[in-house]
This record gives sequence, C-alpha cells and structure tokens, in this order.
Amino acid sequence: MSPIRVLEESVAERIAAGEVVERPASVVKELVENSLDAGASVVDIEIRGAGTRLIRVADDGEGIPSAEVALAFQRFATSKIRRLEDLDGVQSYGFRGEALPSIAAVSRVVLTTRTEGPEPAIRAVVTAGVVEELAACGAPRGTVVEVERLFHNTPARLKFLKSAAREGFLIAEAVHRAAMANPAVTFTLTVDGRLAGRWPGSSQRERAAELLGAAGLGDLVHAQEAVPGGRVEAWLGRPERARPNRLGQHLFVNRRPVSSALLRRAVEQGYAQLLPVGRYPAFVLCLEVRSDSVDVNVHPRKLEVRFKEEGALFGAVAKAARTALLASPLVRSAAALSLAAGRPIWGTALGDDSRGGGQEGSEGALPLWPRSERVAEPGRPGAAYIGGQRLPSLRPLGQALNTYVVAEGPGAIYLVDQHAAHERVLYERLVASRRSGGVPYQLLAVPVTVELPAAQMALLVDRQDSLRLAGLDVEPFGPRTAVLRSVPVLAAATSAEETLHRALGALAVEGEGDGAFERLCIATACHTAIRAGDRLSPEAMERLLTDLEAAEDPFTCFHGRPTVIALPYTQIERWFLRG
Ligand code: ADP
Ligand code: MG
Repeated sequence: MSPIRVLEESVAERIAAGEVVERPASVVKELVENSLDAGASVVDIEIRGAGTRLIRVADDGEGIPSAEVALAFQRFATSKIRRLEDLDGVQSYGFRGEALPSIAAVSRVVLTTRTEGPEPAIRAVVTAGVVEELAACGAPRGTVVEVERLFHNTPARLKFLKSAAREGFLIAEAVHRAAMANPAVTFTLTVDGRLAGRWPGSSQRERAAELLGAAGLGDLVHAQEAVPGGRVEAWLGRPERARPNRLGQHLFVNRRPVSSALLRRAVEQGYAQLLPVGRYPAFVLCLEVRSDSVDVNVHPRKLEVRFKEEGALFGAVAKAARTALLASPLVRSAAALSLAAGRPIWGTALGDDSRGGGQEGSEGALPLWPRSERVAEPGRPGAAYIGGQRLPSLRPLGQALNTYVVAEGPGAIYLVDQHAAHERVLYERLVASRRSGGVPYQLLAVPVTVELPAAQMALLVDRQDSLRLAGLDVEPFGPRTAVLRSVPVLAAATSAEETLHRALGALAVEGEGDGAFERLCIATACHTAIRAGDRLSPEAMERLLTDLEAAEDPFTCFHGRPTVIALPYTQIERWFLRG
C-alpha cells in the first residue's frame, strides 16, 4: 500500500462524511474491510458481549509501517487515495480514513501490526481517540485490532442498541457478506469463546449456496451475462423456494454489499409470473462494473449505489435472470411433492437422484424435454417474456378429486391443475386479443347501472380505455354511478355487476410492472376459469390439455402456481423397485 497521508481538507470535504460506527456490526464491517484492503488471506473475528465488550479482528495482511501507525488514527488519514480523481478508480473498500479514528473515539483500541521485513511489530493503545502508548513488540506479520468497551463514553448510542441476539445476528450477517464477496479469503467468527462460523476459502458459488441456505448447489440457478460497463453473475433461488420477505436477497457491486432497489427489482422481474403473489425470490447478485459507471459514494456507509445507465442495466439484469430461470427445469417432479411431506418409507430407494431427492424438503426437478431459447421482448414487462418452450403432447386418462387432470405423456405421468391451467390458457388468449382490437365482448341487453365509491369512480374514469379494451364498456353516469354496456364474452354467464367490481379491484392493486390491461385480463381469467371441484367431460379435459400445449408459457399460472407436475417413469419404476 502507499503511505498513509492526511487528505487535504478540500478532498476530505468532498467525500460524503458521516457516522461509520453506528453499532457493533458496523465496527466489524469496517475492520474486516480494512483487513481485506490489506490483502489478507485469513481474517479471524472474535466477539464478546455482542461486540460491546470486545471486537477483535486479526488478519495476515500487509500490516502498517511503524512510522504510520499513529497517523492511521487521525481523521481523513488514508493510504488508499490522495486526490479527488483517485476516487473514480477506487478499488479498495476504504478511502475516507475515517473508520479507525471514529472507532477509537468511542472505545479503547489496541492495534498490533507488523509489515513484511525486519521492522518489529508495533502496538498502539488508543483511548477515546488519544494515542496513549506506542511500543515495539513481538507479533507475526499482519494486523490485530482489538476494540474494547465500545460506546462506553456514548451511553445514548449504547442504549440505542438492540438485544444481544439481534446485534449478534447483524455481526454474523456482516461477516457472511464479506465472505460472499471475497470467496478466496478464509474467515472465522468466534462468539463468546465459541467458534460460531468458519468459511474456508472456496468458490463464489459455494459461498452463495451457503448464504442462501440452499440444500445443494443444484438448488441454485446460475446466471451470467455482460451488462453495460461490465458483467453480472447471479445465483438464483428456485421459484418454489421463494420466501415471504426479501431477506434472502443479497446484492454486491464490485465486491461491496449494497442495497439497490433497481437491481432488486430487475431480478424480481426475471421471476415474473413464476412466483405466487407475496413471495420473493432469494438470490445473490454480484455485479462487476467499471468504476466510472457506478457511484458508491452517495451514502456515508457506502451502501447505496447509483448507476449511469440505469435503464440498460435494469434490462440486462432482468434478462439475464429470466433467461437462466427459464432454461432450468421448472416443472417440479413428483419427488418434490410426494417426498417433501415426509421421509420416504424405503429410504434411498425413493431417491430422485444421488443428490438426495429422497431427503425431506428436497425439491428436485427433472428436465423432461429439451428447452428452446425464449425471447424477451424489450420494454414490455412480465407477460412479455414469452415464446419458445412448450408442453409436450399429453393424453388425458381421467380426473382426480375433480381438480387434477391425470395425463400420460413422454417420459412421465402428468398431473395438471385444471384451474391453474385454464387460467393460464384464458389469460394468454385475452392478452393476445389486444392485437385484434381488444377482448371479445357481449353487449348487455339492458345496460346495468352500478353505484361506486369515489375511489373506484376515479379509477374508472382514469382507466376507461383499458377497461374498454378488456371488454368492459363503462361510463360515468353521475357522481357515484356508472353505466355498464358490455362485458367480456367469457364472463357473460356471471353477474355483470360483479365482473365490474372485480375489474376495478384488479386496477386498484398496483402490480409492479404489469399494465392495467394485463391486470384486467388476469381478473377475467381468474374469475371465469374452470374451478377446482368442477367435473370435466373427457372432451373438456382433452381441450384443456390441447390449449395448455399451445400456451406460450404453460408451466405456471400468472399467480406463479405450477400448472403441471410430472411424475417421471424412472421415478415410478424406482418406487416399484424395478429400476
Ligand atoms: P480507510 O480504510 O478509509 O483508509 P481507516 O481509518 O479504516 O481508513 O484506516 C486508515 C488507514 O490505516 C488505512 O488507509 C490503512 O493504511 C491503515 N489500516 C487500517 N487497518 C489496517 C489493516 N488491517 N491492515 C493494514 N493497514 C490498515
Ligand atoms: Mg477502512
């Protein structure tokens, strides 16, 4: 590293300054980043009393020359940049020279460091920002920073801390993230004298699996793509592993853990219609971009990032995720379902494959037929990602529980969820009707007047065109009354008033990305599709399967539920101990 220097005031002022030590986890993060900047290959972290008693970070990095140790505790003293221009190409985590002084101001710091060469190690003791002791000592190459009694002189901040368990979790998360972004480095975390985690140097893929808690690497879908100014690599959790919150989403830009609504939404866009409403995918996304296409300095804790070409980046990331997801087998094999509920009676004989499909909770999936490329239409979200992949030709055998069509097809027996499948078929048909002037409608013999609350009236006025395109010819007819003249042909058999209410309900929920017309099509399809429990004639089953085969995206309904599950013959043979 270059020598440590105090940044000129003009430079220091231009760098967004701020509190870097908010809580124990931020101290851990800063110290670990310093170790990584020093080129460490092993970083050992030790915590006592949730970090308030002790935080100790030891590394085998290049150390600090003894003449510079005291300087390292001065504000804006850094070895990482000198001029403002250097900021543009900054590769290191640190560049502000703020962490050590800020930490030392609110604790007692003992720093022991040694560089390569004959110089002895040096030990500095700094209390409340004042260097009290500076003496040579014996130590191996590298740096150990011990932070004791954190926040002892700022009781307000101490009080602000959450429970020990919560702070401990945040610390572990900080270490996990650093480990993810630096897979070649070995990390250990010791909490109150007990080894809490050890991450031996490994690949990014393995670290991603660990971070996501994926049962096996096969559970992650890998995506890789060039993006404006660099490249993106992501490990995506399978749709059926989605969670009720976004806690499983991890973003890294040039090895920094960041938060970015843009990137998060781009990946979620890739999952469009593969997930049920209210479920969020888990993933790790690592973006490597030229430093001139990203600004990491917008927030003092360096968490927020901004990008130059936002639109192009969004599209590229969404497409990368989408392409990878669709190229992976999405039809869940029966092993997933039949075995997820409990352990197999015959142990491994029921296993889906050697990876342990027979394990509880394992959701294996089999590629049953080759997939062709899908084409993403730029500019149109969600349903626009269609084309290519089809369901094989299926022969219906009968109906189970008046809910599932049981069918025979290449390599497997298939169970088709009649409601989900029909929803998918109707939805695609309705959306496609846009090209031919709109959804086929039927004029009502007697127009229906409907009383509506003000909010719904506003929606109606606002979206009158979309409503008309979706088969609903409706107009305001007074401040609280609307008159409905037509309904979609599909909904002709149901109450016109209810059809309108459902349509307005669909417009009220603002779905990310989906247009008003698509949402109206969803409402109509959902409302009019064959229901679970409906008895189907052999002809109706035949028609449903033929229609589903023709669908462009046959594997899920628009709520993200699967339409079809395959029971591979190889699996059935194993069940009967034939294989
Ligand atoms: P910054 O990381 O922004 O430069 P810090 O206050 O975190 O500021 O650190 C100040 C300086 O101390 C760094 O620039 C670096 O030269 C030195 N330093 C801190 N920690 C270590 C370490 N673990 N190994 C080697 N040098 C270190
Ligand atoms: Mg630093």
